[in-house]
Amino acid sequence: MTDKNNQAIKAIRGFNDTLPDESNKWRQVESILTEVMDSYGYTQIRLPLVEETQLFARGVGEATDIVEKEMFAVSHASKNQEADNADSNAINNEESTSFSLRPEGTAGVVRAVIEHNLTRGDTPKLWYMGAMFRYERPQKGRYRQFHQLGVEAFGSALPDVDAELIAMTATMWQKLGISEHVTLQLNSLGETDERQAYKKALVDYLNQHFNDLDEDSQRRVTTNPMRVLDSKIDSTQTVLANAPKLSEFLGEDSKAHFEQVKSYLNALNIPFTINEKLVRGLDYYNKTVFEWVTDKLGSQATVCGGGRYDGLVGLLKGKPEQSEPAVGFAMGLERLLLLIDEVNPLPEQTACDVFVVAHPDVFTDGLKYAHALRQARPDLRVKMASATSMKSQMKKADKSGARLTVILAQDEIENGQISIKDMTTGEQSTQSKDWLFDASNFKN
Ligand code: ATP
Ligand code: MG
Repeated sequence: MTDKNNQAIKAIRGFNDTLPDESNKWRQVESILTEVMDSYGYTQIRLPLVEETQLFARGVGEATDIVEKEMFAVSHASKNQEADNADSNAINNEESTSFSLRPEGTAGVVRAVIEHNLTRGDTPKLWYMGAMFRYERPQKGRYRQFHQLGVEAFGSALPDVDAELIAMTATMWQKLGISEHVTLQLNSLGETDERQAYKKALVDYLNQHFNDLDEDSQRRVTTNPMRVLDSKIDSTQTVLANAPKLSEFLGEDSKAHFEQVKSYLNALNIPFTINEKLVRGLDYYNKTVFEWVTDKLGSQATVCGGGRYDGLVGLLKGKPEQSEPAVGFAMGLERLLLLIDEVNPLPEQTACDVFVVAHPDVFTDGLKYAHALRQARPDLRVKMASATSMKSQMKKADKSGARLTVILAQDEIENGQISIKDMTTGEQSTQSKDWLFDASNFKN
């Protein structure tokens, strides 16, 4: 390790600070999103950031980009020899287990649902929000620590839940004022056996046109043939134009399910386009998959993605026959904020409505006044500076963005009054001490 004692330490690449102006936007977005989830009766689950690596290997899939290339392993920085000896069994067990920072939320939610038996006699509808970690090349809309909001609904195999989740996201876009700038893409992946049959037909077809495929796609024919459909290479897309279609391999049940989802969406006036090439990166989906995409964020176009995963509960239980149906989605909050900034910026919010300036001789009265005002008017942001000169306090008031400054000196205190400066016009007036406590005199 090189000694950097003579240098300031900086944040790690791909790990961002969120400074106050930016935090303010995050809080506005989070509050709008949580209101929508509350209005659908979904409840929050809070989970650890670290889980056994095995959970993600099994739950996300060994052959996915996430597990193959993007995981952050967690190691114990220093081993405490004494603790080792004192409690060797527990610690040895821990040390032989590999831990990772969570790259996504679904696996953890499913683990918790199983561990706490939440589906017993219930159909939990849950949401989470928080940091996720992936070792990726940082760029706009792609970071190593980023944030997702996710929703997971357990216990129903019926298509109304798929539609409910999509409707929930549509409501979120509407409340955020970005509906015009996102489009819904929809597909059905059918069931495992249907996909298996399709994969076989697709591989046969791709092998017949092997030499016309780009190199990446040639490799994927063996490793993950359905990902070839995702290819951005024109020549490969030309080959794909005549490839077999997944929709032709769906069974009756999958088809009916998909038709019902579409019919619910039509009834709710939620437009969608069918994208037969939408396969999503994760192994565990079946039947409905969807993505909300935008043309405003370059190649980081997917803001939100989700789908049904009826087999995952069973897979993580280690008992496939005891699975429970489930459907969910996750959205990337950084991308959502970038999009909002681009198309419908949030209103600026000031950190201060009223600034209280008090002469050092009556500063205690100033403190008491600000305290009482905050109690009476929780809707106002009331700030004070320290007990320095009036001039320096007034400077702070000027900078604060406050609409009103209340000025208190000996005279005001003796007369039970306050001086008020309107910071937009510069006009000054005198009012009774309680004037601001009445919201009809000064609205937020
Ligand atoms: P992409 O194809 O862009 O890599 P993904 O398929 O890996 O996305 P998911 O695992 O489905 O993404 O995660 C859901 C959402 O989380 C994405 O649609 C995106 O908005 C966001 N997201 C994923 N990875 C990152 C990242 N590294 N930085 C910021 N947001 C991300
Ligand atoms: Mg990715």
